[in-house]
Amino acid sequence: MITLSLQNIDKFYENGVQAVKELNMDIEQGEFIVVVGPSGCGKSTTLRMIAGFEKVTNGQIKVKNKVVNDLEPMKRDMSMVFQSYALYPYMTVFDNIAFPLKMRNLGRIEIKRRVEEAAEIVGVSHYLKRKPGQLSGGQRQRVALARAIVANTSICLMDEPLSNLDAALRTEMRKEIKRFHQYLKNTVVYVTHDQVEAMTLGTRIVVMKDGMIQQMDTPKNIYEKPANTFVAAFIGNTQMNICTAAILKEEDQIKLLFAGRKLAIHSKIASVFENNHYINKDVLIGFRATDVRFEEGFKAEVEHVEHLGSQQNVTTKLGDHTIYLQAPASLVINQSISFSIMMEKLHFFDAETQKRMS
Ligand code: ADP
Repeated sequence: MITLSLQNIDKFYENGVQAVKELNMDIEQGEFIVVVGPSGCGKSTTLRMIAGFEKVTNGQIKVKNKVVNDLEPMKRDMSMVFQSYALYPYMTVFDNIAFPLKMRNLGRIEIKRRVEEAAEIVGVSHYLKRKPGQLSGGQRQRVALARAIVANTSICLMDEPLSNLDAALRTEMRKEIKRFHQYLKNTVVYVTHDQVEAMTLGTRIVVMKDGMIQQMDTPKNIYEKPANTFVAAFIGNTQMNICTAAILKEEDQIKLLFAGRKLAIHSKIASVFENNHYINKDVLIGFRATDVRFEEGFKAEVEHVEHLGSQQNVTTKLGDHTIYLQAPASLVINQSISFSIMMEKLHFFDAETQKRMS
């Protein structure tokens, strides 16, 4: 069942900025949707329109098939967790968590039961009498999560909830949020600029750029079949190299000319090139830093290394292209290296539209 539907949404701010363009999204009950993209791409605006803090300029937002465009935030059956926690500083942790229940006029005993249960889930049972100022950042974010848990709304919206936390806490809280979702089975829309959070939390990821959706798909498909070069470069813990190459036909064989070497390509993609008149034209190829073998092949020199422990990030050059590789931790600057690209892992994009080709 579609719980939340965004249909042809445009958002213009009063200063004329178009923050969101023709956005369409259908979200099923129980999905964990992560909206990801660089700063300024329209993520927060999208979330704030769903919450009702911001009006849409064109289009419709539907919750369970009912248009909610003109419904106040409080009436939308949604809870929200912010980056800044948004806790009331003068209330105790207990009262902060209890707030949505008090708004609904629940009985004292019922409120106590639900607050204690939520506090237990996120591990803040020992701090119920403290004020937010007496808690660490991680503990405050747990309290904000507990408040979302007790609210038990069918849709929970989260705006960069982990970006104020240090790296170790972020990893821990990611697990906490996943557990929270498995427990409540509600629908979550989660905004972040961090592709690791997107990959680890999302049942589906929405990648945005310049107010438009670039791709909406499972983490696996987004990683393995990025729809365009933007998604390819943005998603993935190992950077994707995107380079220009030419398509040739020699003795009835379609080949790729890249950095002075002619490479045989898979017959399936070869026929795509042939059928779409790509022979003697340029295309963009993409391969991740890990998609190479250190064996006979391209010759290059190490320009820069970054030690990661058992691995190194290596920067090198092939012609004009700067190439990022991941290598065993033994290379040094200026060392000559030789590597081949795993052809089965290559991605192909149209040079003009930058869109994936098959
Ligand atoms: P993100 O959350 O992806 O960083 P935002 O949704 O906050 O992006 O912003 C999208 C665009 O809209 C940006 O160009 C931003 O400068 C602009 N914008 C955001 N809020 C306002 C506002 N209240 N008034 C005018 N422009 C805004």
